[in-house]
Amino acid sequence: MKQGEEDPMTSEEDIKHMYEQHVMRTYAPQLTLVRGKGTRVWDTEGKVYLDFGAGIAVLNAGHSNDHVVQAITRQAAVLTHVSNLYFNEKQPKLAAKLNAIGLGGKCFFANSGAEANEGMIKLARLWGHEQGRYEIVTMQNSFHGRTLATAAATGQEKIKKGFAPMPEGFVHARFNDLASVKQLVNEKTVAVMLEAVQGEGGVVPADPDFMTGVRALCDEQKLLMLCDEVQCGMGRTGKWWGYEHYGVKPDAFSVAKALGSGYPIGAIVCNQKLEDVFAPGHHASTFGGSPLACAAALATIEAIESERLVERAADAGAAFAEGLSVLAERYAHVQSVRGKGLMQGLVLDEDAKPLCEMLMDMGLLVLPTAGNVVRFLPPLSVKDSEIEEALDMLDDCLAEWHGATAEAAPEPPPEDAAAPAAPAAGAQEETDDVAE
Ligand SMILES: *Cc1c(COP(=O)(O)O)cnc(C)c1O
Repeated sequence: MKQGEEDPMTSEEDIKHMYEQHVMRTYAPQLTLVRGKGTRVWDTEGKVYLDFGAGIAVLNAGHSNDHVVQAITRQAAVLTHVSNLYFNEKQPKLAAKLNAIGLGGKCFFANSGAEANEGMIKLARLWGHEQGRYEIVTMQNSFHGRTLATAAATGQEKIKKGFAPMPEGFVHARFNDLASVKQLVNEKTVAVMLEAVQGEGGVVPADPDFMTGVRALCDEQKLLMLCDEVQCGMGRTGKWWGYEHYGVKPDAFSVAKALGSGYPIGAIVCNQKLEDVFAPGHHASTFGGSPLACAAALATIEAIESERLVERAADAGAAFAEGLSVLAERYAHVQSVRGKGLMQGLVLDEDAKPLCEMLMDMGLLVLPTAGNVVRFLPPLSVKDSEIEEALDMLDDCLAEWHGATAEAAPEPPPEDAAAPAAPAAGAQEETDDVAE
């Protein structure tokens, strides 16, 4: 296309072809989307879908939220970027807001979840440096990003395979097993890092005793407690931050995904103990905290507040979880339901991917994860009627699926809803997660 010409709508076929030719194959998308509003998105054929993935927990305030669209448009016309060599009005305003709903200290701005975590890891190491402490205990099945350090922090082998040597300084404890964390703490340990609700790990909430136990251990051993709120933060679980469900506060947490409603921005949010650890020259980012990114994030937080979306996530999440539990009782292939607020997982007794593909064909977008878990992360603005609609589609889909598999496997395996369902053997290896 020459400059000045109108961009004609390219056909889905041409789009796919261009992807194959020009874009590295790190993902395997199946659908081309052209428009979104609220909980709904449209494809090139004009078919509408209920988006219960929300761009992987990004559109918490809904697709094309009016307030966010206005803020981005207005800011784009005035000043997009200046670098951190200059002040910009939006950055301290966003920081003040995040500190008020966060930990009362200060913020650092980055551009993604991985970058926020990478910065948080550096912050912890710098804090422990003089005492020679650098090792961070993270959790098995955690997910912290795809840079080398955040992949090393991630407690999943499939993410590291082929990229050796990995950066040192990370050891993995069993999630929800305090004794296994204690076992790994030694004179080199500087921090414990975890998600209040593991997202990529299969929508697994921390046990209350575990979270309070980790906080107590960190206090006792003078370690930092670091939370990765990239997926479970920004109101997703029915509170601003996942850790708030446990009556504890970490020393720092990372946030990204939903922070800018799709405009890339991430942040480290810390308490007063850590607020002056970084000094000029220690850490930096060219794009971090640009006027445009901060305007998008400020407007996102304002929209979540004015539309009362945190409360909405709690209420709608409870209703949705109840509906899912009914389906879990009805269908033998569903082992259990788990999650918090509008971060819910349906645990199957087999690979979740085929079911997610069937749901897509029916018009419901969801995210398979950890092999056998169907993950739901709808916009927090989801309407009651949309939840009903999604549950109906899921009901139909499970009925069809059950019918199709009933002949192949007439004996449903025994259910064990109480056990933390492990991914179906082999499923994890084969499954390319949609996410990250
Ligand atoms: C998505 C995710 C990340 C990585 O975020 P990116 O923006 O993809 O780099 C880190 N931690 C958690 C918990 C996530 O869900």
